[in-house]
Amino acid sequence: MLTGKTALVTGSTSGIGLGIAQALAAQGANVVLNGFGDHQSAMDAVRQAGGNRAIQVDYHGADMSKADEIAAMMAFAAERFGCVDILVNNAGIQHVAAVQDFPVEKWDAILAINLSSAFHTTRLALPAMQQANWGRIINVASVHGLVASAHKSAYVAAKHGIVGLTKVTALENATTGVTCNAICPGWVLTPLVQKQVDAKAAEHGMSNAEATKLLLGEKEPSLQFTTPEELGALAVFFCSAAANNVRGVAWNMDGGWAAQ
Ligand code: NAD
Repeated sequence: MLTGKTALVTGSTSGIGLGIAQALAAQGANVVLNGFGDHQSAMDAVRQAGGNRAIQVDYHGADMSKADEIAAMMAFAAERFGCVDILVNNAGIQHVAAVQDFPVEKWDAILAINLSSAFHTTRLALPAMQQANWGRIINVASVHGLVASAHKSAYVAAKHGIVGLTKVTALENATTGVTCNAICPGWVLTPLVQKQVDAKAAEHGMSNAEATKLLLGEKEPSLQFTTPEELGALAVFFCSAAANNVRGVAWNMDGGWAAQ
């Protein structure tokens, strides 16, 4: 379905970004990966997901908190593949503290990585998408783009912000073949969430299994994690012709979290 298209997925060396990159590769898209850590293993996993399709996989290590590095990544992708047809803004970090105790540098980093980076990639990707009259921008927001939780001020502000950016981008391109939508996952068991499970286990003197149960039970009625594979399937749907007129939505995959 996506043969000949190129997808750039930020923060795709692990977790949800990697799952989405694999799902797009399985549909035949070339993929540019980004993120910290072991990018070789991520590239191997994405190549493997492509199966026997002749997809190309590359990597750029831009730090999503730095506008100049983001511009260099977008220029690299354009030079390597001609243009970015599918942009997935996924890179994100978390920090948990009450507003009055929230470290200023953490606030700045979360706003930069979880929100401003998507503005920069989007503004740089749009001209070529508009020229081609086809493009897909998928913003990985969160259920925290729709509702709040205590102690997550920067994250909730950034995720509400990216839902807003999604709607504006969708509206400005509504008469074109360029769509922009957001995905709002509940809990997904990735390194980002494992840190929160570990913190809960330490706080209550619990096992990992007990802390996991507590974490899910507090917010997610299904008591199940959403998986990167399920989120990848939703991203593939947004890229399909059936989603040509899906514009500006913030689509929960949250086990009923926001329905409460
Ligand atoms: P993760 O920690 O597994 O992955 C985060 C990715 O972002 C990694 O590839 C990491 O290297 C990259 N990254 C972090 N800082 C970066 C920076 N400055 N520059 C470039 N890359 C950077 O986390 P995840 O859970 O897969 O989260 C991915 C996205 O999904 C985030 O935006 C997160 O807010 C969102 N999300 C996660 C959950 C969840 O439960 N895990 C729920 C809702 C939304």
